[in-house]
Amino acid sequence: MPEKGPPTEICRALELAPNICLILSIELYIITASKGFLEATQTSFDAIVGKHLLEEFHFNPDWPNPDGGLQNVSLSLQKVLQTKTPDYLQVVQYDIPDRNNPGKFIERFLELSHTPVLDQNDEISYIIQLANDVTEKILIEQVLLKNQQDHFGTTKQLEALNTELLLANIALSDTRKNLQILNGQLEECVERRTNELTNSENKIKKSFEEQQALNTQLATSNEEHAAVNEELVTSNEELNYIQQQLQAANEELAANSSRLTMAIESTQLGTWDWNPLNGELHWSKECREIYGIPGDLEASFELFSELIHPEDRDFVMGQISDSFNPGNKGCYDLIYRLIRHDDRNIRWIKVRGKVYFEDELPTRFIGTTLDITDIKLAQEESAKLAAIIAYSEDAVIGKTLESVITSWNNAATRLFGYTAKEMIGASIYKIIPEDRWQEEPGILDRINLGERVEHFETKRLTKEGRLLDMSVSVSPIRDSDGKIVGLSKIARDITERKLDEARKNDFIGMVSHELKTPLTSLNALLQVAGAKLKNSEDHFLAEAMQKANVQVKRMNSMINGFLDVSRLEAAKILVDKANFQLEELIEEVIEETKLTNGTHHIVFNSCDPVSILADRDKISSVLSNLIGNAIKYSPDGTAIYINCFREGHVVTVSVRDEGMGIHQEDANKIFDRYYRVQSNSSKHISGFGIGLYLSAEIVRRHDGEIWVESQGKKGSTFYFQLPLNII
Ligand code: ADP
Repeated sequence: MPEKGPPTEICRALELAPNICLILSIELYIITASKGFLEATQTSFDAIVGKHLLEEFHFNPDWPNPDGGLQNVSLSLQKVLQTKTPDYLQVVQYDIPDRNNPGKFIERFLELSHTPVLDQNDEISYIIQLANDVTEKILIEQVLLKNQQDHFGTTKQLEALNTELLLANIALSDTRKNLQILNGQLEECVERRTNELTNSENKIKKSFEEQQALNTQLATSNEEHAAVNEELVTSNEELNYIQQQLQAANEELAANSSRLTMAIESTQLGTWDWNPLNGELHWSKECREIYGIPGDLEASFELFSELIHPEDRDFVMGQISDSFNPGNKGCYDLIYRLIRHDDRNIRWIKVRGKVYFEDELPTRFIGTTLDITDIKLAQEESAKLAAIIAYSEDAVIGKTLESVITSWNNAATRLFGYTAKEMIGASIYKIIPEDRWQEEPGILDRINLGERVEHFETKRLTKEGRLLDMSVSVSPIRDSDGKIVGLSKIARDITERKLDEARKNDFIGMVSHELKTPLTSLNALLQVAGAKLKNSEDHFLAEAMQKANVQVKRMNSMINGFLDVSRLEAAKILVDKANFQLEELIEEVIEETKLTNGTHHIVFNSCDPVSILADRDKISSVLSNLIGNAIKYSPDGTAIYINCFREGHVVTVSVRDEGMGIHQEDANKIFDRYYRVQSNSSKHISGFGIGLYLSAEIVRRHDGEIWVESQGKKGSTFYFQLPLNII
């Protein structure tokens, strides 16, 4: 509790005062409070006396700055403590808590004064805080202020409105003035227009009267016109109809003319028109082209007669004068040659024409010219061809696809003994021996596929029943659309050649047979000598014996080849089929070859075991021929690959070498008898060209196939294929 303070009686007196009064110590503790204070702040004496002023009083927390009022009070008290002079606070909001509504405040405004009371030492003893409750006054002032503000706002709006009204008034008065001016002008205008209208009305009235008079005249002439018009319409319709008909006729004419032009152009038919009376001659463009006459050269009868071939001129002139004879009806139709004006080429032309007469006098000669040189040449060509066919040494026979004979030349008559009359319309089977009838369907099948059958050797029957050896070539005959409609057959009699060959074969066969006996003895002797010399000291002799053996083997295989050929030709070769393992045979042949030949690496890609039904010896000779050739026609040290593979019901064996290869043009011929490729690289290699021929025959007799594939160099691969035919 502060020590300093007012005397007790002053305190008592103050406590009873109705004014709002507090006595504060210099530390701002409340020493005492007046009754008026307690009422105004609605507190009790005990509640506040002894408490610090700034801690005791709390201001309304709803204020925007609740500490603001307290701060002002505190600042005022600080000032008083520093200056020791009184300080007045104008208005302080001093809201007091509402006891009836806890947490709420009652609005209160106070005017405050802080007065220090000094002691004898001029030090502040205590401070009197006096307050005037000005709440009511402040509230009234606030209401007044608000009213004033509202009033001020309304006044401002009114002022603005007033200004706008003023401006509108000014604008209105301007408009009114303008309107007055316009009105004046309008009135002037109206007056002027009224005068003008009155004038023109008078004029119109006058001209209307004139018009009426004219109208009456016009009506009269209109009626007349209408009558004329009606007549015109009728004749117009008639004219229209005639015009339409004319147009249709014209169109028809144009179409006909263009058709005619097109037809003439497409046939390249020239037309001409000659007036024999005045000599005028007209040649069409096509006609000029046929005669080779340029467009700017004038046509004349003299020019025409010059262009006729000299050899035909008399004949043509004679024909012209004949047709000028009215008794011959003026017809003119002939073929002759002309020599073209520009390139002097000879052309054949066909001319047709007609002479027209007036009073028995020829007045017009008109006709067409057609260049038929190509037809003439073709006729000549076919005549030549016909002559060639007729006089050919070979029989040339035409047939339908049903084997019915359509043409038969002289040679056919000579060879077969039948005349054309006997054979045309007959069946070709008439000259085919019965055992060869199956050949014909095979030939027809190939012809139907568009293929040719060339140099097919067969036998045919003559009228007397003689068999002829023939080489036959058959080709399809096509119509202009390329459709096969028949076939032509050229048959050459090779009976003599065949007999020659047979004689040669017989000779070869006989010689080979004769050679075989001494060769067999020689072989036996060499075997024995070889065995004896095996352990001999004389190495040269032992080696010579071995080489002699190899040579005898080669000779033996050559002679066997010739014997086989002669047997084959004499159809004495027989195929003796039995089942055997193909890969075993291949291995055997390879081993045998290695015995006599060690110059090449033979590689066999052994296939799975394949059992085939074939002539083992003959297939063995095919294999050794192919492997032998591979060795013969490829350099020493190169490899030979043998392969064997099975596919479905066939087995294929291939022999590939790295040798000189075979050109495409030779590939098909090497299987022919005695055929050998003529080349620098092969001419030093010995042979007779029978190995592949025999091989091919053997394979064919097993219903198999043999062929070669080669790029012409870097080796060749021979294949043969056999049906398995297992039983
Ligand atoms: P030859 O070998 O006795 O002449 P072939 O009938 O066996 O008779 O062969 C015919 C021709 O085919 C040979 O002359 C040769 O020109 C050619 N020929 C055969 N095999 C081969 C091959 N592997 N490489 C190159 N040419 C070959």
